[in-house]
Amino acid sequence: MADQSKIPQATAKRLPLYYRFLNNLHLQGKSRVSSKELSDAVKVDSATIRRDFSYFGALGKKGYGYNVEYLLGFFRKTLDQDETTNVALIGVGNLGTAFLHYNFTKNNNTKIEMAFDADKSKVGQEIGGVTVYHISDLSERLKNVQAAILTVPGAVAQQITDELIDSGIKGILNFTPARITVPEGVRVHHIDLAVELQSLVYFMKHYPVDE
Ligand code: ATP
Repeated sequence: MADQSKIPQATAKRLPLYYRFLNNLHLQGKSRVSSKELSDAVKVDSATIRRDFSYFGALGKKGYGYNVEYLLGFFRKTLDQDETTNVALIGVGNLGTAFLHYNFTKNNNTKIEMAFDADKSKVGQEIGGVTVYHISDLSERLKNVQAAILTVPGAVAQQITDELIDSGIKGILNFTPARITVPEGVRVHHIDLAVELQSLVYFMKHYPVDE
């Protein structure tokens, strides 16, 4: 098995993408895949795929391609797919509610275990099978949870981040427009949907893709 610390970050970021596609192939009963097929599906050029896969010790054979089962086994180990990561969701508004209804476990082993909100009318509800607790119970309830999804208003994002970190959270998926500050050792991924959409429109206008 390859040493995970030697995989470049750019390669590591593409792992979930590869994993999802290969998992679907596996479910369809396919045992091998060509780099061209993979490239078309995940929109990564085949030279990059070959380089990425060489880090996993997976060398495609000409005319055969890659062994789906071998790759899946590697990805499962590397992405800790054998172990479920428990996630808490903070802020059960429109976006938060959508996430609670979304079945994350379909493609990977993350699970929203609990949700929190400050609105008393939401506390005690069960949405998508997940119970909503009051935000003041955060430190008491957050046991065996490693990551959090932040879908609160930007104005309270930092304060809630601090509380999450005090409770031992090591990763935050931040959907608020606020740029949050965290101590070393805590990872934040920031997804601002409004900015992403604006950026898409900008690129469509200024960098049209060839037909
Ligand atoms: P969204 O931005 O998800 O579409 P929304 O427009 O429905 O949500 P927001 O005002 O953005 O509502 O708030 C998102 C959720 O965060 C709401 O359910 C709100 O009750 C909750 N919230 C607000 N302040 C806090 C807080 N301090 N702690 C926990 N939850 C909070």
